[in-house]
Amino acid sequence: MDLKEMHPDTLLAQAGGAIDLASGGVVPPIQPSTTFVRDADYAPLNPANTYARDHNDAVRQAEAVLTQLEGGDAALLFPSGMAAIAALFRTVPTGGRVIVQSGIYWGTTKWIREFCERRQVVMDEVDASDAAALMAACATGAAHLVWIETPSNPWLKIVDIAVAKKAARSCGALLAVDSTAASPILTNPLKLGADVVMHSTTKVINGHSDVLGGVLVARDPGAVWDEIANDRASAGAVMGPFEAWLLLRGMRTLPLRVERMCENAMKVARFLEDHPAVEAVWYPGLESHPGHELAKRQMPQGFGFLMSFLVKGDRDTALKVAGRLGLFHRATSLGGVESLVEHRHTIEPHTGIPETLLRISVGTEKADDLIADLGQALGQ
Ligand SMILES: *Cc1c(COP(=O)(O)O)cnc(C)c1O
Repeated sequence: MDLKEMHPDTLLAQAGGAIDLASGGVVPPIQPSTTFVRDADYAPLNPANTYARDHNDAVRQAEAVLTQLEGGDAALLFPSGMAAIAALFRTVPTGGRVIVQSGIYWGTTKWIREFCERRQVVMDEVDASDAAALMAACATGAAHLVWIETPSNPWLKIVDIAVAKKAARSCGALLAVDSTAASPILTNPLKLGADVVMHSTTKVINGHSDVLGGVLVARDPGAVWDEIANDRASAGAVMGPFEAWLLLRGMRTLPLRVERMCENAMKVARFLEDHPAVEAVWYPGLESHPGHELAKRQMPQGFGFLMSFLVKGDRDTALKVAGRLGLFHRATSLGGVESLVEHRHTIEPHTGIPETLLRISVGTEKADDLIADLGQALGQ
């Protein structure tokens, strides 16, 4: 069956291809070789492989799956999500201009700010969930790249991708979307008009908190894409075969994990919303969320597994709630099968994040157990 015809669930269950012909195995083999032989006439035995810095088979397999999942034409895997983001921004010429959503993943904001300063690139930060504000930022002049993140982390803002595309087009910019918190199961930004979609595959795509990675997937890859691919090979920023193999393994259960995590998250959000010790909950699945209607259209199969809530009280109250949690691990990151809690203010105190905010990533545990844990931590 042709990859293009397969439902994502089917594609993913057999991610990496059905059968290894050499062994008969039903999972792909790992080929860790860094170098590859030539025959007596000095032609490479396999023309795709000469030296492992350029590329490797496991990465090609994982890229083919991700390309298909997002409905793109090409994908490039990197050793981390940040490496993927940096690879895209490095194509912006010195003296160029980028428009970046405010209040997004702090690691992204920090890297882009530093990069733009080094390279004299003008960086405009704007709340892209406010369509008029984004349009206005684009109307002030030409730009190379518009960068959005939806749902955003940790504010859970929802950005209308189709509207962002219109805004980007109006200033001649490419639209790139960090879709890590949505996953390719819930949103496919390329199908909504985006030019490039990025994921930290460290998160839900791998889903087991045991491999770092990042990916860019593009539609109609043009000159910018060739530049990224060439630079990745020349500069040696390819993912290794073991990591790519683990990623393929993790992806085989992606639809199941996302389905369960979304169900759990919805139950947890409703519990928190009703809890007297909780001041506010930000989860796009709640009717009270300002982006709920948009999320219903843009994430029709579920609202994700990430949410933030404010504990009534002060910084100390919030830290004590986090400290009393038994099932939720106190750790950064998101999208794994195990639930995590984070006090973001401890990590990024300068970004205006409330001191009473706890961000949780809901895993695949039994929802009742997660709710019981939150209940005892909040005090019932
Ligand atoms: C984790 C994360 C990144 C960075 O990815 P790494 O794999 O940690 O380098 C970027 N964007 C979002 C939304 C993330 O959650």
